[in-house]
Amino acid sequence: MGANRHMSVDSRGRYTPEADGAAVSGAEGPAGSRSHNLSSTRRASLMQEPVLVLNATYEPINVTAVRRAMVLMLKGVAQAEEMHNAEVHSAAHAHKVPSVIRLLAYRHIPQQSRALSRKNILLRDRNTCQFCGRVFPSSELTLDHVVPRSRGGRSSWENLVACCYRCNNGKGDRTPEEAGLKLARRPRPFTLHTSRQLMRLIGHRDERWRKYLFY
Ligand SMILES: [Zn+2]
Repeated sequence: MGANRHMSVDSRGRYTPEADGAAVSGAEGPAGSRSHNLSSTRRASLMQEPVLVLNATYEPINVTAVRRAMVLMLKGVAQAEEMHNAEVHSAAHAHKVPSVIRLLAYRHIPQQSRALSRKNILLRDRNTCQFCGRVFPSSELTLDHVVPRSRGGRSSWENLVACCYRCNNGKGDRTPEEAGLKLARRPRPFTLHTSRQLMRLIGHRDERWRKYLFY
């Protein structure tokens, strides 16, 4: 495989979506020709829509948000491969919004997992409470220590899950077994494998992504 220039794009080597749950909420209908009068809410939600990131070799490597993708394009780090139907308007310009971007320089993708953060845990768990299985906006989710901290549970990928407030309150300072709750999935680190699963999940709904993900 080509060069191994580490982290040339972002000093911390992250492409995580800027917005919580951007990957989960998925693509809304395109604004089409009526994009002229984008309300600020519509604009804000458009800026959070997921964008597929391809390596220079066209290999899909991540999902980011429109806002971050446009920054990468402005910096000359990436170029758009597929466009959204919508545009965002600043004072003087209309900007086309990307749906798929490609890095101009090959980037080595380490196999190690992403930074442990609330945002990444919600992304890994797809904004789904791991106890009741329902999907919530990020603001209505908290992180639950599966084995409570008071019982020696660590803050780790394997011990933190997305949890709604109701389940979190119900569980209290108990283990899932003690509280009669069952985890939807065994929590794991967020690896490249997790990213690929996410990309495919979103890609099923977006035809502009499909040719890069399923071949
Ligand atoms: Zn719940």
